[in-house]
Parts: sequence; structure tokens; C-alpha cells
Amino acid sequence: MFPEFRLRYSRLPERFYQRFRPEPVSRPQLVAFNRTLAEELGFDLAALPDEAELAGYFAGNRLPAGAEPVAQAYAGHQFGMFVPQLGDGRAVLLGEVVDRAGRLRDIQLKGSGPTRFARGGDGRAPLGPVLREYLVSEAMHTLGIPTTRSLAAVATGEAVYRERRLPGGVLTRVAACHVRVGTFEYFAARGDAEGLRLLADFVIERHYSQLAELSGGERFVALLAAVQERQATLVAKWMGVGFVHGVMNTDNTAVSGETIDYGPCAFMEAYHPRTVFSFIDHGGRYAYGNQPGIVMWNMARLAETLLPLIDPDDERAVARAMEVLERFPERYEAAWLEVMRAKLGLVQEQAGDPELIADLLQAMQGGRADFTLTFRRLCDCAESPTADRGLLTLFEEPTAIASWLTRWRQRLGAEGRAGSLVAAGMRTVNPLYIPRNHLVEQALAAAVMEGDLAPFQALHAVLARPFTEQPGRERYALPASDEERVLRTFCGT
Ligand code: AMP
Ligand code: MG
Repeated sequence: MFPEFRLRYSRLPERFYQRFRPEPVSRPQLVAFNRTLAEELGFDLAALPDEAELAGYFAGNRLPAGAEPVAQAYAGHQFGMFVPQLGDGRAVLLGEVVDRAGRLRDIQLKGSGPTRFARGGDGRAPLGPVLREYLVSEAMHTLGIPTTRSLAAVATGEAVYRERRLPGGVLTRVAACHVRVGTFEYFAARGDAEGLRLLADFVIERHYSQLAELSGGERFVALLAAVQERQATLVAKWMGVGFVHGVMNTDNTAVSGETIDYGPCAFMEAYHPRTVFSFIDHGGRYAYGNQPGIVMWNMARLAETLLPLIDPDDERAVARAMEVLERFPERYEAAWLEVMRAKLGLVQEQAGDPELIADLLQAMQGGRADFTLTFRRLCDCAESPTADRGLLTLFEEPTAIASWLTRWRQRLGAEGRAGSLVAAGMRTVNPLYIPRNHLVEQALAAAVMEGDLAPFQALHAVLARPFTEQPGRERYALPASDEERVLRTFCGT
């Protein structure tokens, strides 16, 4: 039923992981199964077993043939503080498969029992956060943002205890690979140069094969630059949809450039760069507007681990790494401008663009305008001035946005493309539907508290086509009312 495993990570030396057999749960029940992704991964959909057997596999009760589960070792900076050993406390990599496009993909169970890295945790996950990751990661994918994917969610039939008793769950997660900046930090902290080199080579082979020909220190300078490029692009894309990751610790930063570890993440409604949702982020370290700076900081942590591979002479190594890191602001700015120009329907680059974008954001901040709807209604404005009213009503104070609209129209006019064409293009990058917090919370509450999966499935279906207006689904596009608004999110892990 599973595609053939091609084990890679579990062929690395033993100190990279702990072999760990998922601990069976008593009454596994399949809550969600991603057939499209299964197909993409090479599952034979025609030969799928019944739901009970599927649930057994995705709960970890049955081990697919050829899997050799391992919990991966890693370290990480959490809220700026270094923790030399984290690792998969409650997750196992079953192994890698080759998908239909020929790419290697990790299949991991999360919530499958306490490993050596559990540090006192129970190794389990509540069903709520499992469904949250399922929903939000799949939404990120349909929004066109690199992310780990969700293949299945299972209810374990067992309780987990957090502040209260909650139903347990297991998520089956698919990633290009699960190596994190924190994985590099794990070996660096141990002074394990050989481990570092093996890891770097593993990552190059897996994600950056264009660097395979490089040798000596240049190979690792290029690796740093390549990871940095993908992370800069990734965060620019987050910024373009108002996504706040919430826990951008180095152990939650994948070197593949995929969004990983959905905890207290959330989408911003009214635009403000200091937007924070996570209950544990007291200082606002991981606020919306801080994300580019934080990812640059995380790249500096990655750079530190690579120094011994770059050059045996520390000063020379630092100089080479700094040359790369110093390019981050420029690389990020370029990626962000690309995202924002597309959102504004601009295809040419003009010197005044950064200012035009900044002034729009300023107007949104002053007018407390909904981020997603502002851009979506701008698409209509590109087509017809009669749509301006719909945009202006999003702003508490419309003076600034009204004069900004005039400037934007002049800028668009200079490109000379037909309004309908501009609008159509803008609608392919400005979503109408995002996983708004209150909708996500409502769907999870119904699933977890009442066993009612209908709201989860309905929301999932809407988010599968975020750029397409879906008649009858109007409320999914709207910001939360004052009573519905969710200001705080919890990892709940
Ligand atoms: P996270 O906040 O989910 O990124 O997790 C941070 C670290 O804590 C990772 O090493 C996780 O494996 C570990 N962890 C989180 N929750 C649990 C749990 N319930 N049991 C064991 N380990 C956990
Ligand atoms: Mg994590």
C-alpha cells in the first residue's frame, strides 16, 4: 500500500538519530486522508485497504514494509537561547519515498510516542493541534508557499493531558526533508566535524545538487548562500499572505526552505507589523514584521556551524560567511518586491515601487484594514473605479488610501495593460480565502469537542481553492467579528 521506501537518513551513522518503533494506540480512527498527496507520493489508490487498516498505519500501530523508523537528533535556539539537545521527542521518520515527480520525500509520524529526545514530554499530540497543522499546511500549499504537507490525521482514541484532558492524535507529515538549522547546531555543539560534513553533504545531495561539483570550503559557502536564498524567498512569501509563523526557532527552520512546525501560527487580519498571536511570545520576538530579521539571525546561526568546513582558519572562515550573510537584506528585499509587485498587478520594476508599497501598508495600518481583503479588493479596483467603495469601506480612515489609489492607478497606467488583464493576474496571487483564526478555531472545536468533522471538512474544501470566488461561501472570506476574534493562539503541544 505504501510506495517503496528508499531509506536515506537512517543510513547515516547512529548518532544522527534514535531507532524508535512508534508506540501503538488503542483505538485509531482515520480523521483525514489526503488522497491527492497520496497519489503524488506514489500510493496505489486503487489498492488502498479499508479505513481501519489505513488508520492503523497512520497511527503507527502497523509499520509499512520497508520502513525503519528513526527519531532525528537536533538542537536549536529557542527564543534566542541555545538548547544543545532537542530532537524528535514525539515524532519518527518512517523513511523516504520517491514521489511521481522523482523527488525524495520524508514521511513522518508526529505524536507517535516518547523517544529518547522527549525530555519528560509524553510523546503525544492532542488532536486539535494535529488538525490545525493539517489544515494550515495544506492551505499554505494551495497558496503557493513551500511547506511540509499533511498526508493523514488519526484520532488515537486515547486521552492526552495538557491543562485538561484532550483527545489524542497523530499527524502524518510529508517533507522534502526534515533537516533543520538546529540539526547543524547539534553537531557543531558537539564539535563533531565529521558529522557536520556528512550532514552538509546529505543536504547538498538532497536539495542543492547544483553544488555537488564544488569542492573545498566553497562548497559550504555556497550551501549557506543557497539555504539563505530559499529562506529569504520563503519569508517574503509569508509576508505576502500575512502569515505569522509564531515559533521561528532554529529547530523550526528547515534547510529545504519549506515552512515547518505549525504551532501557534496564524494569519493576520487588520494589518500591523507588530502582530503577534502566540501565547508564549511575550516579547513579540516573532511578530509579523520581525520575521525577515529573525530568519537572517537564524542564517547567522547556520553560518556559525559551517565555519570549520569553510576554512580551518577561523578569521578567513568568518570573512567568507559574512560576505554571504551581508547579502541577506538585499536578497530578501528583492524577493519581497517580487511578491508585492505581483500583488499590486505591476510587471515592470520602477524606482518608486518600494515607496508605493510602503505607503499602502502605512495606509492599511492607519486604517486598520484587513490585509487579505485589501489586496483582493484592489484586484477589482484595477478593473473598475466603481469598485473603489468596496475597498475604502475596509479602512476606518479612508483619506490616505483614497489618495494612494490615485498614485497606484497612475503607476498601473504607465504599464499600459488592460484593466481586466491586470485584475485577472492579481487574482491569481491575492487570495480571497485564508485560514482565518476564528474559522480554524471553530472547526477544531467542533471536531475535538463534539466529534463533528463537518466544519473542518467545509473549511478545508474552501481553502483548497483560495483564489477562486466560491458562491455561498462568503462568510469564509470575512474577518472575524469582535465576538469571534481570536487574539491568542496556543501551541497546545
Ligand atoms: P516544538 O515546540 O513543537 O517545535 O517542539 C520543541 C521540542 O519539544 C522538540 O524537540 C519536540 O520534539 C519536543 N516536544 C514537543 N512536545 C512534545 C511532547 N508532547 N512529547 C515529547 N516531546 C515533545
Ligand atoms: Mg519544532
